Amino acid sequence: MVIVFATSNAHKVEEVNSLLDNSNVVFHTLKDINWTSEIVENGSSFHQNALIKARTLFDAGHPIVLAEDSGLRVDALNGAPGIYSARYAGEDKNASDNNALLLDNLSNETNRSASFITVICFIYKAEVHFFEGVWQGKIAEHLDGKEGFGYDPLFIPVGYDITVAALGNTTKRKVSHRAKAFLQFKAYLQSANLQ
Ligand code: IMP
Repeated sequence: MVIVFATSNAHKVEEVNSLLDNSNVVFHTLKDINWTSEIVENGSSFHQNALIKARTLFDAGHPIVLAEDSGLRVDALNGAPGIYSARYAGEDKNASDNNALLLDNLSNETNRSASFITVICFIYKAEVHFFEGVWQGKIAEHLDGKEGFGYDPLFIPVGYDITVAALGNTTKRKVSHRAKAFLQFKAYLQSANLQ
């Protein structure tokens, strides 16, 4: 089964392929389908943004599509950075700027609880399905670790006492929010005999 995956990130596809091992799913990325126009993610939730991406491709004539939207929610900041995770410190800023702002906004804050979330939207036979993965943890006092991306140097998952960036990608890829969401998707494919 060919699924158009609303991403241009080849690493993401590789990561997902390793989670869906032995499935007969073949992902085509935005690059594979020569998609060049920007999809404006102007929803107000992870679900809405994933749906916007999936539906845009569906409406353009791709019958089987998948999109995902992820981010970090910090309890003491009322769920921020949330859907704005990628551009928390501003449009032209990078992950170090986002991490610096997060540490700043949490200075003097004792409640460091946070979670990563991934929401997958899958359209098949014109029906919309959502799958969600949450990874609970807390925000460290200092940056640590070299692997991963985004907020990985600041996020300490429940059950660990080091950050995701220090934990490393091999472990992260098996237990992260993204892994949890895609394992649910995999279970759905199996139960619907699509795998
Ligand atoms: P995306 O929807 O997967 O592109 O994620 C949006 C933003 O959320 C990223 O740019 C990161 O800032 C943050 N984020 C999502 N997943 C992760 C993760 O696994 N580690 C660190 N940051 C993440």
